Amino acid sequence: MGTDRDEVEIGPCPCGKGKIRVDHCSPDHPWGGGAWLEAQLDCAICAKDYAITHNDNNEPKLVKKADIKAKKALEKKWHDKIAEIEASSEFQTLKSILDTTVAAQKTKADKHRLLTRAKVVSGSYQTFLKNPGYRLSGLNALDAATALGIKSHNLKKMSDELDAAWDAMKVEIPAVRTGLKKLEK
Ligand SMILES: [Zn+2]
Repeated sequence: MGTDRDEVEIGPCPCGKGKIRVDHCSPDHPWGGGAWLEAQLDCAICAKDYAITHNDNNEPKLVKKADIKAKKALEKKWHDKIAEIEASSEFQTLKSILDTTVAAQKTKADKHRLLTRAKVVSGSYQTFLKNPGYRLSGLNALDAATALGIKSHNLKKMSDELDAAWDAMKVEIPAVRTGLKKLEK
């Protein structure tokens, strides 16, 4: 099984010496469906600074490689912030208080209720009965602290920074205007 490929649009690359082509692709099986667009940058000069990526809807777009690099750096910042939270003494204290509090609950239902309130588990009670494990992470540390009545200025500060890092990271890489209709969604 292969792919059917039809050129739907072609236009100049940013420097004008090469081309960008957009293909309509679909699996070549008889029951059809599942079509997508693919783009190709045919220019050795532009390939140094530009690349084709896809947006959240899997539509191709031309972007600057520098912007991809910047986005990767933002993603790393977010991951680093989670690691920073988890390495902090506040987090270690919270973790041991949570473990102690969970262990002190009389019933499994009480444990599940506490962990759900702390946003450490998100599944149903049935799921929890099958898999009663849980893991406190930098992502849910502030919610867990709140549920346990623990106030930590540093934990709050780091969690706010984590939220800000997430917002910065979620911004879509801007599409470079090419004049091709299929590339500018
Ligand atoms: Zn070019």
